[in-house]
Amino acid sequence: MKFWDDMKIHDMEQLIFCQDDKSGLRAVIAIHSTKQGPALGGCRFWSYASEADAVRDAMKLAKGMTYKAAISGLPYGGGKAVVWNIPGITDRDAAFEALGRFIDRLHGEYITGVDLGTTTHDMDQIHLHTKYVTDQSGTLGAMGDFTAEMTAYGVFLGIKESMRYKYGSLDLHNTRIVVQGLGKVGYALCRLLHQAGASLFVTDIDTVKTAIAAKEFDATPVSPETIYTQSCDVFAPCALGGVLNHISIPLLTCGIVAGAANNQLADERLADMLEQRNILYAPDFAINAGGIISTGAELSGADAARAQLAVEQIPHTLAAIYSYAKISGITAVAAATKLAEIKFM
Ligand code: NAD
Repeated sequence: MKFWDDMKIHDMEQLIFCQDDKSGLRAVIAIHSTKQGPALGGCRFWSYASEADAVRDAMKLAKGMTYKAAISGLPYGGGKAVVWNIPGITDRDAAFEALGRFIDRLHGEYITGVDLGTTTHDMDQIHLHTKYVTDQSGTLGAMGDFTAEMTAYGVFLGIKESMRYKYGSLDLHNTRIVVQGLGKVGYALCRLLHQAGASLFVTDIDTVKTAIAAKEFDATPVSPETIYTQSCDVFAPCALGGVLNHISIPLLTCGIVAGAANNQLADERLADMLEQRNILYAPDFAINAGGIISTGAELSGADAARAQLAVEQIPHTLAAIYSYAKISGITAVAAATKLAEIKFM
Protein backbone atom coordinates (compact mmCIF):
# COMPACT_ATOMS: atom_id res chain seq x y z
CA MET A 1 0.00 0.00 0.00
CA LYS A 2 1.26 3.47 -0.86
CA PHE A 3 0.23 5.37 2.25
CA TRP A 4 0.95 8.88 0.99
CA ASP A 5 -0.81 8.26 -2.34
CA ASP A 6 -3.85 6.94 -0.48
CA MET A 7 -3.75 9.92 1.88
CA LYS A 8 -3.78 12.23 -1.13
CA ILE A 9 -6.72 10.37 -2.71
CA HIS A 10 -8.71 10.78 0.50
CA ASP A 11 -7.41 14.32 1.27
CA MET A 12 -6.18 13.13 4.65
CA GLU A 13 -4.38 15.51 6.98
CA GLN A 14 -2.59 12.99 9.16
CA LEU A 15 -2.09 9.31 9.94
CA ILE A 16 -0.69 8.32 13.31
CA PHE A 17 0.59 4.76 13.76
CA CYS A 18 0.60 3.52 17.34
CA GLN A 19 2.46 0.50 18.67
CA ASP A 20 2.79 -0.70 22.25
CA ASP A 21 5.02 -3.69 23.05
CA LYS A 22 3.59 -4.36 26.48
CA SER A 23 -0.05 -4.81 25.45
CA GLY A 24 0.46 -5.75 21.79
CA LEU A 25 -1.50 -2.69 20.60
CA ARG A 26 -1.34 -1.90 16.91
CA ALA A 27 -3.56 1.03 16.02
CA VAL A 28 -3.88 3.79 13.52
CA ILE A 29 -5.51 7.16 14.11
CA ALA A 30 -6.70 8.77 10.88
CA ILE A 31 -7.36 12.51 10.94
CA HIS A 32 -9.14 13.60 7.80
CA SER A 33 -9.82 17.24 8.58
CA THR A 34 -9.54 19.68 11.47
CA LYS A 35 -10.58 22.75 9.45
CA GLN A 36 -13.91 23.10 11.26
CA GLY A 37 -12.66 21.89 14.65
CA PRO A 38 -11.21 18.85 16.38
CA ALA A 39 -11.54 15.58 14.47
CA LEU A 40 -14.40 13.62 16.02
CA GLY A 41 -14.98 9.92 15.37
CA GLY A 42 -15.12 6.64 17.22
CA CYS A 43 -12.61 3.88 17.75
CA ARG A 44 -13.14 0.60 15.87
CA PHE A 45 -11.74 -2.73 17.12
CA TRP A 46 -11.81 -5.13 14.20
CA SER A 47 -10.00 -8.07 12.60
CA TYR A 48 -8.61 -7.07 9.21
CA ALA A 49 -7.06 -9.34 6.61
CA SER A 50 -4.06 -7.03 6.34
CA GLU A 51 -2.64 -3.85 7.84
CA ALA A 52 -3.37 -2.08 4.55
CA ASP A 53 -7.09 -2.94 4.99
CA ALA A 54 -7.06 -1.52 8.52
CA VAL A 55 -5.42 1.73 7.40
CA ARG A 56 -7.71 2.11 4.40
CA ASP A 57 -10.80 1.54 6.57
CA ALA A 58 -9.59 4.16 9.05
CA MET A 59 -9.09 6.70 6.25
CA LYS A 60 -12.45 6.04 4.60
CA LEU A 61 -14.32 6.22 7.89
CA ALA A 62 -12.48 9.38 9.00
CA LYS A 63 -13.39 11.10 5.73
CA GLY A 64 -17.03 10.09 6.20
CA MET A 65 -16.97 11.69 9.66
CA THR A 66 -15.81 15.02 8.20
CA TYR A 67 -18.71 15.04 5.75
CA LYS A 68 -21.13 13.95 8.45
CA ALA A 69 -20.05 16.74 10.80
CA ALA A 70 -20.02 19.34 8.01
CA ILE A 71 -23.46 18.53 6.56
CA SER A 72 -24.85 18.62 10.12
CA GLY A 73 -23.30 22.04 10.79
CA LEU A 74 -21.16 20.77 13.69
CA PRO A 75 -17.94 22.53 14.73
CA TYR A 76 -15.90 19.35 14.26
CA GLY A 77 -13.77 17.65 11.66
CA GLY A 78 -13.53 13.94 10.99
CA GLY A 79 -11.26 11.29 12.45
CA LYS A 80 -11.26 7.62 13.32
CA ALA A 81 -9.10 5.27 15.35
CA VAL A 82 -8.75 1.67 14.28
CA VAL A 83 -7.31 -0.90 16.65
CA TRP A 84 -6.29 -3.99 14.75
CA ASN A 85 -7.78 -7.02 16.51
CA ILE A 86 -4.85 -9.42 16.32
CA PRO A 87 -3.80 -12.34 18.52
CA GLY A 88 -0.78 -10.23 19.54
CA ILE A 89 -3.04 -8.18 21.83
CA THR A 90 -2.25 -9.81 25.14
CA ASP A 91 -4.09 -7.42 27.43
CA ARG A 92 -7.10 -5.55 26.00
CA ASP A 93 -7.42 -3.10 28.90
CA ALA A 94 -3.72 -2.22 28.68
CA ALA A 95 -4.03 -1.80 24.89
CA PHE A 96 -6.84 0.76 25.24
CA GLU A 97 -4.91 2.49 28.04
CA ALA A 98 -1.94 2.76 25.68
CA LEU A 99 -4.23 4.15 22.98
CA GLY A 100 -5.45 6.74 25.51
CA ARG A 101 -1.85 7.90 25.99
CA PHE A 102 -1.36 8.23 22.22
CA ILE A 103 -4.63 10.18 21.87
CA ASP A 104 -3.62 12.51 24.71
CA ARG A 105 -0.42 13.43 22.86
CA LEU A 106 -2.62 14.97 20.15
CA HIS A 107 -3.90 17.54 22.70
CA GLY A 108 -7.50 17.39 21.48
CA GLU A 109 -6.90 17.36 17.71
CA TYR A 110 -8.75 14.01 17.79
CA ILE A 111 -11.64 12.98 20.09
CA THR A 112 -12.57 9.31 20.18
CA GLY A 113 -15.62 7.30 21.27
CA VAL A 114 -17.34 3.94 20.87
CA ASP A 115 -17.64 2.37 17.41
CA LEU A 116 -17.94 -1.14 15.99
CA GLY A 117 -16.26 -3.62 18.38
CA THR A 118 -15.58 -1.19 21.23
CA THR A 119 -17.45 -0.59 24.47
CA THR A 120 -17.89 1.89 27.29
CA HIS A 121 -15.38 -0.18 29.27
CA ASP A 122 -12.74 0.37 26.55
CA MET A 123 -13.48 4.12 26.66
CA ASP A 124 -13.02 4.00 30.45
CA GLN A 125 -9.49 2.63 29.89
CA ILE A 126 -8.77 5.40 27.38
CA HIS A 127 -10.22 7.97 29.80
CA LEU A 128 -7.60 6.99 32.42
CA HIS A 129 -5.05 8.83 30.27
CA THR A 130 -6.93 11.46 28.30
CA LYS A 131 -9.99 13.68 28.48
CA TYR A 132 -10.37 13.54 24.68
CA VAL A 133 -12.88 10.69 24.71
CA THR A 134 -16.67 10.33 24.78
CA ASP A 135 -18.99 7.44 25.71
CA GLN A 136 -17.09 6.59 28.91
CA SER A 137 -19.08 5.76 32.07
CA GLY A 138 -21.28 8.60 33.23
CA THR A 139 -21.84 10.11 29.79
CA LEU A 140 -25.00 10.08 27.65
CA GLY A 141 -23.20 7.84 25.16
CA ALA A 142 -22.80 5.20 27.85
CA MET A 143 -26.49 5.39 28.77
CA GLY A 144 -28.04 2.25 27.29
CA ASP A 145 -27.65 2.52 23.53
CA PHE A 146 -28.28 6.26 23.46
CA THR A 147 -26.04 6.97 20.46
CA ALA A 148 -27.57 4.12 18.44
CA GLU A 149 -31.07 5.21 19.54
CA MET A 150 -30.34 8.75 18.31
CA THR A 151 -28.97 7.37 15.04
CA ALA A 152 -32.15 5.32 14.59
CA TYR A 153 -34.31 8.34 15.45
CA GLY A 154 -32.52 10.42 12.81
CA VAL A 155 -32.97 7.67 10.21
CA PHE A 156 -36.66 7.38 11.11
CA LEU A 157 -37.17 11.13 10.60
CA GLY A 158 -35.09 10.91 7.41
CA ILE A 159 -37.28 8.13 6.01
CA LYS A 160 -40.36 10.27 6.67
CA GLU A 161 -38.77 13.27 4.95
CA SER A 162 -37.80 11.10 1.97
CA MET A 163 -41.41 9.83 1.80
CA ARG A 164 -42.67 13.42 1.88
CA TYR A 165 -40.29 14.43 -0.91
CA LYS A 166 -40.98 11.43 -3.12
CA TYR A 167 -44.65 10.66 -2.43
CA GLY A 168 -45.92 13.85 -0.77
CA SER A 169 -46.93 12.09 2.44
CA LEU A 170 -45.39 11.72 5.89
CA ASP A 171 -47.79 8.94 6.81
CA LEU A 172 -46.03 5.59 7.19
CA HIS A 173 -49.20 3.53 7.68
CA ASN A 174 -49.04 0.50 5.39
CA THR A 175 -45.74 1.66 3.90
CA ARG A 176 -43.66 -1.46 3.23
CA ILE A 177 -40.18 -1.04 4.68
CA VAL A 178 -37.27 -3.49 4.55
CA VAL A 179 -34.78 -3.24 7.43
CA GLN A 180 -31.49 -5.01 6.68
CA GLY A 181 -29.50 -5.58 9.90
CA LEU A 182 -31.16 -5.82 13.30
CA GLY A 183 -28.34 -4.65 15.55
CA LYS A 184 -28.40 -1.65 17.84
CA VAL A 185 -29.62 0.82 15.20
CA GLY A 186 -31.72 -1.50 13.00
CA TYR A 187 -33.69 -2.85 15.95
CA ALA A 188 -34.36 0.62 17.38
CA LEU A 189 -35.44 1.78 13.91
CA CYS A 190 -37.88 -1.14 13.61
CA ARG A 191 -39.50 -0.09 16.88
CA LEU A 192 -40.06 3.48 15.66
CA LEU A 193 -41.34 2.35 12.25
CA HIS A 194 -43.68 -0.22 13.81
CA GLN A 195 -45.12 2.42 16.17
CA ALA A 196 -45.71 4.64 13.13
CA GLY A 197 -47.75 1.91 11.42
CA ALA A 198 -45.28 0.70 8.78
CA SER A 199 -45.35 -2.89 7.50
CA LEU A 200 -41.90 -4.31 8.12
CA PHE A 201 -39.74 -6.91 6.38
CA VAL A 202 -36.69 -7.76 8.46
CA THR A 203 -33.46 -9.63 7.95
CA ASP A 204 -30.20 -10.36 9.76
CA ILE A 205 -27.50 -12.98 9.31
CA ASP A 206 -28.28 -13.81 12.93
CA THR A 207 -31.55 -15.76 12.54
CA VAL A 208 -32.36 -15.38 16.24
CA LYS A 209 -32.41 -11.58 15.88
CA THR A 210 -34.64 -11.92 12.81
CA ALA A 211 -37.10 -14.14 14.66
CA ILE A 212 -37.24 -11.81 17.70
CA ALA A 213 -37.81 -8.73 15.53
CA ALA A 214 -40.43 -10.52 13.44
CA LYS A 215 -42.36 -11.38 16.59
CA GLU A 216 -42.03 -8.04 18.37
CA PHE A 217 -42.84 -5.88 15.35
CA ASP A 218 -45.29 -8.15 13.58
CA ALA A 219 -42.78 -8.17 10.72
CA THR A 220 -42.17 -10.60 7.88
CA PRO A 221 -38.80 -12.40 8.21
CA VAL A 222 -36.79 -12.55 4.99
CA SER A 223 -33.50 -14.35 4.32
CA PRO A 224 -30.39 -12.15 3.86
CA GLU A 225 -29.90 -13.65 0.38
CA THR A 226 -33.34 -12.67 -0.98
CA ILE A 227 -33.73 -9.31 0.76
CA TYR A 228 -32.88 -7.20 -2.30
CA THR A 229 -35.76 -8.63 -4.32
CA GLN A 230 -38.32 -8.14 -1.55
CA SER A 231 -41.10 -5.94 -2.89
CA CYS A 232 -41.17 -2.74 -0.76
CA ASP A 233 -41.43 1.06 -0.74
CA VAL A 234 -38.33 1.79 1.35
CA PHE A 235 -35.12 -0.21 1.71
CA ALA A 236 -33.20 0.64 4.91
CA PRO A 237 -29.62 -0.74 5.00
CA CYS A 238 -28.59 -0.95 8.66
CA ALA A 239 -25.85 -3.59 8.51
CA LEU A 240 -22.58 -3.24 6.62
CA GLY A 241 -21.34 -0.80 3.99
CA GLY A 242 -21.00 -1.52 0.28
CA VAL A 243 -24.42 -3.22 0.00
CA LEU A 244 -25.50 -0.99 -2.90
CA ASN A 245 -23.52 -2.38 -5.82
CA HIS A 246 -23.84 -3.47 -9.46
CA ILE A 247 -25.54 -6.72 -8.42
CA SER A 248 -27.95 -5.48 -5.75
CA ILE A 249 -29.16 -2.20 -7.31
CA PRO A 250 -30.83 -3.83 -10.37
CA LEU A 251 -32.72 -6.15 -7.98
CA LEU A 252 -34.25 -3.40 -5.83
CA THR A 253 -38.00 -2.82 -6.11
CA CYS A 254 -38.22 0.17 -3.74
CA GLY A 255 -38.68 3.86 -4.49
CA ILE A 256 -36.42 5.00 -1.63
CA VAL A 257 -33.18 3.77 -0.05
CA ALA A 258 -32.69 5.34 3.38
CA GLY A 259 -30.78 3.66 6.18
CA ALA A 260 -28.08 3.85 8.83
CA ALA A 261 -25.14 1.93 7.40
CA ASN A 262 -21.97 3.89 6.67
CA ASN A 263 -20.63 3.92 3.09
CA GLN A 264 -23.67 2.13 1.61
CA LEU A 265 -22.61 2.73 -1.99
CA ALA A 266 -19.83 0.36 -3.07
CA ASP A 267 -18.78 3.20 -5.37
CA GLU A 268 -20.07 6.78 -5.34
CA ARG A 269 -20.80 6.62 -9.08
CA LEU A 270 -23.54 4.07 -8.32
CA ALA A 271 -25.69 7.01 -7.18
CA ASP A 272 -26.33 7.56 -10.92
CA MET A 273 -27.58 3.99 -11.30
CA LEU A 274 -30.06 4.52 -8.45
CA GLU A 275 -31.22 7.76 -10.06
CA GLN A 276 -31.70 6.03 -13.42
CA ARG A 277 -33.86 3.45 -11.66
CA ASN A 278 -35.91 6.31 -10.16
CA ILE A 279 -34.85 5.36 -6.64
CA LEU A 280 -34.38 8.25 -4.21
CA TYR A 281 -31.22 7.70 -2.17
CA ALA A 282 -30.83 9.48 1.18
CA PRO A 283 -27.05 10.14 1.44
CA ASP A 284 -25.83 7.99 4.33
CA PHE A 285 -23.62 10.60 5.97
CA ALA A 286 -26.61 12.97 6.22
CA ILE A 287 -29.35 10.58 7.36
CA ASN A 288 -27.22 8.60 9.84
CA ALA A 289 -25.73 11.62 11.60
CA GLY A 290 -27.92 11.27 14.72
CA GLY A 291 -25.05 9.73 16.70
CA ILE A 292 -22.49 12.43 15.97
CA ILE A 293 -25.11 15.17 16.42
CA SER A 294 -26.05 13.89 19.88
CA THR A 295 -22.37 13.44 20.81
CA GLY A 296 -21.61 16.97 19.61
CA ALA A 297 -24.56 18.29 21.64
CA GLU A 298 -23.33 16.45 24.73
CA LEU A 299 -19.79 17.84 24.29
CA SER A 300 -21.30 21.32 24.32
CA GLY A 301 -23.10 20.58 27.58
CA ALA A 302 -26.56 19.49 26.37
CA ASP A 303 -28.68 16.94 28.24
CA ALA A 304 -30.50 14.00 26.58
CA ALA A 305 -33.61 16.05 25.69
CA ARG A 306 -31.59 18.79 23.98
CA ALA A 307 -29.43 16.22 22.22
CA GLN A 308 -32.61 14.63 20.81
CA LEU A 309 -33.87 18.04 19.72
CA ALA A 310 -30.61 18.59 17.83
CA VAL A 311 -31.13 15.29 15.94
CA GLU A 312 -34.46 16.67 14.69
CA GLN A 313 -32.55 18.89 12.24
CA ILE A 314 -31.85 15.81 10.05
CA PRO A 315 -35.08 16.04 7.97
CA HIS A 316 -34.36 19.73 7.32
CA THR A 317 -30.85 18.86 6.16
CA LEU A 318 -32.26 16.19 3.83
CA ALA A 319 -34.89 18.58 2.48
CA ALA A 320 -32.13 21.07 1.63
CA ILE A 321 -30.08 18.33 -0.08
CA TYR A 322 -33.04 17.08 -2.15
CA SER A 323 -34.03 20.55 -3.26
CA TYR A 324 -30.42 21.50 -4.15
CA ALA A 325 -30.13 18.23 -6.13
CA LYS A 326 -33.35 19.01 -8.02
CA ILE A 327 -32.41 22.62 -8.83
CA SER A 328 -28.91 21.62 -9.95
CA GLY A 329 -29.93 18.47 -11.83
CA ILE A 330 -27.51 16.31 -9.84
CA THR A 331 -27.93 13.29 -7.56
CA ALA A 332 -28.66 13.71 -3.87
CA VAL A 333 -25.21 12.26 -3.08
CA ALA A 334 -23.50 14.84 -5.31
CA ALA A 335 -25.62 17.58 -3.74
CA ALA A 336 -24.85 16.45 -0.18
CA THR A 337 -21.13 16.19 -0.99
CA LYS A 338 -21.08 19.72 -2.46
CA LEU A 339 -23.02 21.20 0.46
CA ALA A 340 -20.69 19.51 2.96
CA GLU A 341 -17.57 20.61 1.08
CA ILE A 342 -18.77 24.22 0.99
CA LYS A 343 -18.84 24.04 4.78
CA PHE A 344 -15.44 22.48 5.46
CA MET A 345 -13.26 23.54 2.53
P1 NAD B 1 -24.46 -3.63 15.10
O1 NAD B 1 -23.14 -4.32 15.03
O2 NAD B 1 -25.13 -3.47 16.42
O3 NAD B 1 -25.53 -4.35 14.12
C1 NAD B 1 -25.24 -4.74 12.82
C2 NAD B 1 -26.17 -5.92 12.51
O4 NAD B 1 -26.06 -6.23 11.13
C3 NAD B 1 -25.83 -7.19 13.27
O5 NAD B 1 -27.00 -7.70 13.90
C4 NAD B 1 -25.33 -8.15 12.18
O6 NAD B 1 -25.61 -9.51 12.46
C5 NAD B 1 -26.11 -7.65 10.99
N1 NAD B 1 -25.54 -8.02 9.69
C6 NAD B 1 -24.25 -8.06 9.30
N2 NAD B 1 -24.16 -8.44 8.01
C7 NAD B 1 -25.44 -8.60 7.57
C8 NAD B 1 -26.00 -8.97 6.33
N3 NAD B 1 -25.26 -9.23 5.26
N4 NAD B 1 -27.35 -9.05 6.23
C9 NAD B 1 -28.13 -8.78 7.30
N5 NAD B 1 -27.65 -8.44 8.50
C10 NAD B 1 -26.32 -8.34 8.65
O7 NAD B 1 -24.21 -2.20 14.42
P2 NAD B 1 -25.08 -0.88 14.59
O8 NAD B 1 -24.46 -0.03 15.66
O9 NAD B 1 -26.51 -1.21 14.62
O10 NAD B 1 -24.74 -0.14 13.21
C11 NAD B 1 -25.34 -0.56 12.00
C12 NAD B 1 -24.78 0.26 10.85
O11 NAD B 1 -25.03 1.65 11.07
C13 NAD B 1 -23.26 0.13 10.67
O12 NAD B 1 -22.95 0.22 9.30
C14 NAD B 1 -22.72 1.37 11.38
O13 NAD B 1 -21.46 1.77 10.86
C15 NAD B 1 -23.80 2.38 11.05
N6 NAD B 1 -23.89 3.46 12.02
C16 NAD B 1 -24.10 3.20 13.32
C17 NAD B 1 -24.20 4.26 14.23
C18 NAD B 1 -24.45 4.01 15.69
O14 NAD B 1 -24.75 4.97 16.41
N7 NAD B 1 -24.38 2.79 16.19
C19 NAD B 1 -24.08 5.58 13.79
C20 NAD B 1 -23.92 5.82 12.41
C21 NAD B 1 -23.82 4.75 11.53
